[in-house]
Order: sequence, then C-alpha cells, then structure tokens
Amino acid sequence: MAARILNGNEIREQIYAELEREIAELRASGVRPGLAAVLIGDNPASHIYVRSKIAACERLGLRSWLETPSARIATQELLDLIETLNGRDDVDGILVQAPLPPQVDAKRIFEAVDPAKDVDGFHPMNLGRLVAGRPGLVACTPAGVMEILRRSGIEIAGANAVVLGRSDIVGKPMALLLMHANATVTICHSKTRQLPGVVRRADIVVAAMGRPAMVEADWIRPGATVIDVGTSRITDAAEAARIFAHRPERLEKFREKGEVLVGDVHPDAAAVAGAITPVPGGVGPMTIAMLMSNTVKAARMRRGQKFPAAAGVRH
Ligand code: NAP
Repeated sequence: MAARILNGNEIREQIYAELEREIAELRASGVRPGLAAVLIGDNPASHIYVRSKIAACERLGLRSWLETPSARIATQELLDLIETLNGRDDVDGILVQAPLPPQVDAKRIFEAVDPAKDVDGFHPMNLGRLVAGRPGLVACTPAGVMEILRRSGIEIAGANAVVLGRSDIVGKPMALLLMHANATVTICHSKTRQLPGVVRRADIVVAAMGRPAMVEADWIRPGATVIDVGTSRITDAAEAARIFAHRPERLEKFREKGEVLVGDVHPDAAAVAGAITPVPGGVGPMTIAMLMSNTVKAARMRRGQKFPAAAGVRH
C-alpha cells in the first residue's frame, strides 16, 4: 500500500493561520514582532532564501529589515552590525544568512547574536537549553519536523527513532527533540556500521545527510514514518534515471528543466513506508514557517510574563 504523504505545504498553512491570529493579537496590544535579516554578498541561493523569508514576514504582518553588507566585509564590521541589531528594541529576531564569506569568522558572528534574538537557534546557549530541556529558541528545520510528526498524529513516545546525520543545525537538535518527546533515539553518521540494518529497526526515520536517494526502499521497515530533510539538486541524467526509474512524471520534469530536487530517501520508499514527506513540499516549507514562529516566540520571551507563550507550536 502506498504511504500517506505528509504535506509540508498544508501544515505550513495551518501554522501561518495560527500565527496570523497571534500576531494580530500582539499588534492589538502594541507589539509588532520584527525580524532583521543580514544578507552578505551576492550568492544567488542566499538571495532567494532571504527574499522568501522577508515575503513570509510581510504576509504575516511582521516587521522586517534587510541589511546587505558587501561580500568584502571584515569580521569586526559584521560584529558591529550584529551589536547594533542586538541593541535595538524593535528587532526581535536576527537572521544571518549562511554561507558567510571566507574572510569572516562565522563562529564568532553566530555567537555574537543575542541568544534572545537567535531565531535560527544556532547559538550554543540555545543548543544548551535544548539539551537541558529548558525553554529557548530551537533550530527551525528540526522544529519543523516535530510539527509535521505531531500534526500528522504520528506517535513519538516509545517509538524507535533513527536520525541520519549529526550536524549542529539539523541532526543533533533533531535527536534531542525526539528524545524529549520520549522516543528512543539512535543517531547515525558517516562512521555508522551496517546503516541499513539500523534504519530497518526504526519506527521513525529522519534522514538529514545530503546524500541523494541513499536510503533505499528495502532499508525501511514496512509502515514506518519517513521524514526526508535532505535536499540535493541533481543535474546528471543517468543519476536522475536511476532515482526516478519508477516515477516517469519526475523524470519527464527533469528532462524539461535539466535539474531536479532529490531527498536522501529513494522515492521507491513510498511504497513501503506508512507515511513519508515528499521532496520538494515536505520539510522544506516548514523551515520558514518555524522561523516566523520563532520570531513571534522571541518577541514574547523578550517581554516576559506580560506576553506568555501562546498555544499551537510547542517546541
Ligand atoms: P551536514 O552538516 O553536511 O551534515 C551531514 C550529516 O550527514 C553529517 O553528520 C554526516 O556524518 C552525515 N552523513 C553524510 N554522509 C553520510 C553517509 N554516507 N552515511 C551516514 N551519514 C552520513 O548537513 P546538514 O546541514 O545537516 O544538512 C543535511 C541535509 O539536509 C542537506 O541535504 C541539506 O541541504 C538539507 N537541509 C534541508 C533543509 C530544509 O529546509 N529542507 C534545512 C537544512 C538542511 P559525519 O558527521 O560523520 O560527517
């Protein structure tokens, strides 16, 4: 039987509808949450990402600002900019779009962002709060995965969850969130032995490796839930033909465009899984939704008890 498709676009719309109500209430009390985006240089992909983030702010009624320093900016100049944004009371969230130019000390920049405004959840302080199970700002992609699972009624407590990947921005926070939700979590990485066997034991698989279609259908336990975080752009015709051998419509699209977005999970896994996120249209749309949610959360947390956190998104 084909898997239930967990549609990230639909879940994003639910979250946006809740956020629109919450933002309208905050605005009625005189608070308009705001996000400042820092976009350095002219990387085309970064421009597209930041443009969609600003567009989401505009759609939801959040304030937004765009800072566009040149690609030649020095670490100190960028630190000064972050310091200015940290000090501004109207800025609730600060987003520094990666990748940063090579001459910039990226670690120092991300650690300079006020943890209370760290809406990407990258600051070690926020990662530490997540480890300790204390309230804080959680990285957007793993937080989005939790929303997909919860809002789709997937049982997490007691489930065997396997996370493929251990990066600071996806794999590690993902494993912590699943553990706090009472899953039994296994974290896999490039040195894990007998990966297919480990994945076969999972009730929930979260793949975040950046390895196109690596997770084969026969790695998946029948009925398991599969969340595919990976996004790789394929331009090689032979690779596309291998991956989409049973999906002629996707292969046709590849032939039209000369490229296609592929997850870490082979599309044939949809015939074995109980539920699966598509690529595109699964985890991707959730990341910006959670950035918006984090901006509202930061605006509330910075103002303390006067504006306690609302129901809805629960990370
Ligand atoms: P990353 O920093 O490159 O981390 C990749 C992780 O996968 C590492 O922990 C690595 O293990 C592990 N890995 C790589 N090859 C492996 C293999 N053959 N077997 C087992 N583990 C392997 O990547 P990331 O930033 O976490 O992103 C992961 C993927 O998610 C990428 O495709 C990225 O584009 C995508 N992503 C999507 C969104 C979205 O909004 N949809 C957001 C963020 C990321 P080691 O630690 O041993 O090297």
